[in-house]
Amino acid sequence: MVSRRNLIKLLGFSYLLFLSLPYKILYSATKKIINPNLSKVQKDIMFNEGTERPFTSDLLKENRKGFYHCANCGAKLFSSTAKFDSGTGWPSFSEALPGAFKTKIDYSYGMKRVEYHCANCGAHHGHVFLDGPSATGKRFCNNGLCLIFKPEN
Ligand SMILES: [Zn+2]
Repeated sequence: MVSRRNLIKLLGFSYLLFLSLPYKILYSATKKIINPNLSKVQKDIMFNEGTERPFTSDLLKENRKGFYHCANCGAKLFSSTAKFDSGTGWPSFSEALPGAFKTKIDYSYGMKRVEYHCANCGAHHGHVFLDGPSATGKRFCNNGLCLIFKPEN
């Protein structure tokens, strides 16, 4: 026999699950692995919201003109003109190309941060902070492994 009190608890819990379900379905529907050659680490960052170790990305030293694309779907995300050295150990940009990303609030690790993901394939790329040095005031802190740089010409 389920007591009345437990029944109410059970219903309340199911109701919460039910409420979060449409969001989960909608969010996972936008995530899709397109590039079959993604490494295990890349998949962990892009689809499990992992983070690469700081100061490990080759892109930190990249200073050529060109564009940064999504490593999963190839969408164009950043121009080299927006790149700057933030000293954080992750490739950083003052602005993204229009419509490149969608954002959501991330409450993990006891912090409130704005997470952004590729608008085209849903892959997680990084977090955006409001302490950037440029006119936009924004700092897109991007995992280098999520990006592919294509130089101009
Ligand atoms: Zn993408």
